[in-house]
Amino acid sequence: MPPSVARRFAGDRLVVATNNAGKLAELQALLTPLGVQLIASGELGLPEPVEDGASFAANAELKARAAAIAAGLPALADDSGFVVEGLDGQPGIHSARWAGPERDFAMAMQRVIDGLAARYGSFAAADRRAAFVTDLCLAWPDGHVEHSEGRVEGQVVAPPRGAGGFGYDPIFMPAEGDGRTFAEMSRAEKQAQSHRGRAMQAMLARCFLPASA
Ligand code: IMP
Repeated sequence: MPPSVARRFAGDRLVVATNNAGKLAELQALLTPLGVQLIASGELGLPEPVEDGASFAANAELKARAAAIAAGLPALADDSGFVVEGLDGQPGIHSARWAGPERDFAMAMQRVIDGLAARYGSFAAADRRAAFVTDLCLAWPDGHVEHSEGRVEGQVVAPPRGAGGFGYDPIFMPAEGDGRTFAEMSRAEKQAQSHRGRAMQAMLARCFLPASA
C-alpha cells in the first residue's frame, strides 16, 4: 500500500480546542517557533461538543471538527485515556468518567485494581498490561482531517505509589523505566515519554514540519 500523503498546515493561525492551560502551553512551545499563532477555543467563545464518540480518535475528531467549522480556521483537539488490557481496554474513553463528578481518582484507581482482581481471581494473577493513549486530530473547515497517535506502554501496579502527576499516574509503571510509577517521577521525566508529547511530535512531523525528501 502506498504511504498516505498528509495534508500540511499552511496557515499562520490555529485554533486549539481545549480549556486546559497546560495542554495549550505544551503546544505553544512546539508551534510558536514555526510561526503558528494559537487561539484557544475558549477565547473565541466556541461551544464544547458532547464527547459521545466510541474511540479516542472519534472524540478528538468531533472536537476538532466542531471548532474548525465554528471558527472558520484549522483546529486541533486531543483525547486521551488509560487503557487496561485485562479490563478489555477500560476505562479507555471513560477514564475521566470513572472518577465521577468529584474527580475522585483514588476511587477510579481502586476500581481498576479491584476489577483486575475480580476477573483473574487475584491482582497478582491478572494481565496487568496497560497504556496511556492520546489521539490528536487536526481538522480544516472544509472537513478534511489528519490524525496522530501517541502511546506509552506499561503495567498497572498496586497499591498506588507517588504524589506527582494526576489521574491514574500512581498505578502506572511505564515499561521503559526504573520501576517508578508516573506519579513518582518529576514532571520533566514523565513528559519525556508521555503519550501526549508523542502524539504532538507525530502531528508535527505529519502536518507542520517541511516534508523530508
Ligand atoms: P483528556 O482527554 O486529556 O482530558 O484525558 C482524559 C482522562 O484520561 C483524564 O481525566 C485522566 O483520567 C486520564 N489521563 C489522561 N492522561 C493522563 C496522564 O498523563 N496521567 C494520568 N491520567 C491521564
